[in-house]
Amino acid sequence: MQKKLFIPGPVDVREDVLEQMTRPIIGHRTNAASDLQRGISEKLQKIFYTDNTIILSTSSGTALMEGAIRSFTKKRAAVFSNGYFGTLWYKMALYNNIEADLFKSEKGEAITPDMVEKVLSTGKYDLITITHNETTSGITNPMEELSSVIQNYPDVIWCVDGVSSIGGIKLEIDKLGVDVCIVSSQKCLGLPPGMAIASVSEKAIERARQIEFRGYYLDFLELYETIKRTDYQYISTPAIPMMFAMDYQLDKIFSEGLENRFKRHEQLADMVRSWAKKHFKLYAKESCASNTVTTIKNTLGLNIDLLNQRLGERGFQISNGYEDLKDKTFRIGHMADCTVEELQELLDTLDEVLGCDLREEWLAI
Ligand SMILES: *Cc1c(COP(=O)(O)O)cnc(C)c1O
Repeated sequence: MQKKLFIPGPVDVREDVLEQMTRPIIGHRTNAASDLQRGISEKLQKIFYTDNTIILSTSSGTALMEGAIRSFTKKRAAVFSNGYFGTLWYKMALYNNIEADLFKSEKGEAITPDMVEKVLSTGKYDLITITHNETTSGITNPMEELSSVIQNYPDVIWCVDGVSSIGGIKLEIDKLGVDVCIVSSQKCLGLPPGMAIASVSEKAIERARQIEFRGYYLDFLELYETIKRTDYQYISTPAIPMMFAMDYQLDKIFSEGLENRFKRHEQLADMVRSWAKKHFKLYAKESCASNTVTTIKNTLGLNIDLLNQRLGERGFQISNGYEDLKDKTFRIGHMADCTVEELQELLDTLDEVLGCDLREEWLAI
């Protein structure tokens, strides 16, 4: 049975968007490709609230994260984390022989301006990474507050993982002074998996020029210079069908209206949080709880795989907790084009499943 996805990516994609991917293929060195890619980039600038250059990558978001830490760290990276994806930047730095230190938030809490100030004021770092919305813990970091600290360090390149927020939670790149922001297609933008997008500032590009070994496929400088030289063409063959779908879906996002889209996500999050608090507890402090994914503490000790199996029989899928939070938490994704009605259906089904099964069946092994 086809399941409605309430996982934090990939998300359900609307039929009409999927259909765009069946359009006849065009050559990637044609004016038509330039027009398509230029058009997409201009639309994405509006979604990122930026005049910075947009880079499209035929890869998932992880690839551009690795490309960014490699292309922009000269001295040492300060990696801030509230969960798995935050810490991933640190692993990437290590594996690429880039000097880095990892700073973790308190469990269930946001990264604070004080933490950042303490680290940057040492003068040891020339790059900082922040996860806007940590999809494992369900935490959204206070970007305006963090920006007011980071802005005082103009030599530091600020990289943001916006993978599970851009298109669902407002993030004004230029106002905040974010140098690099990365998003994947399959989360809040409501597209299939397969492409990643980054905005990149001139300041970051100047930094990349000072770094000798940046790789090739994910080298931001090579990507940047190629699109400038070729009128928005790419260094290799991009996923053209995804571009058709993206171009089309971005227009659908504008017809909903960005502010309406952010409000809808607030409303979805409120619904899930109220439901979760009736039965369980939230993993994140409510003041920093995410509007696109809710991580719920499994306070009833349920067998989450069994819960998901029961939901699956009814046509729904949610997510277990990630890595060390597996079974201790579970997650409900409420992003992209998910409507209030669709979410209500899921919550009603969860109530039905939780209410009708024998208690002992639920006990975790
Ligand atoms: C999903 C996710 C990633 C990884 O993105 P991929 O597109 O799967 O590579 C990174 N960071 C966050 C916050 C995510 O939610």
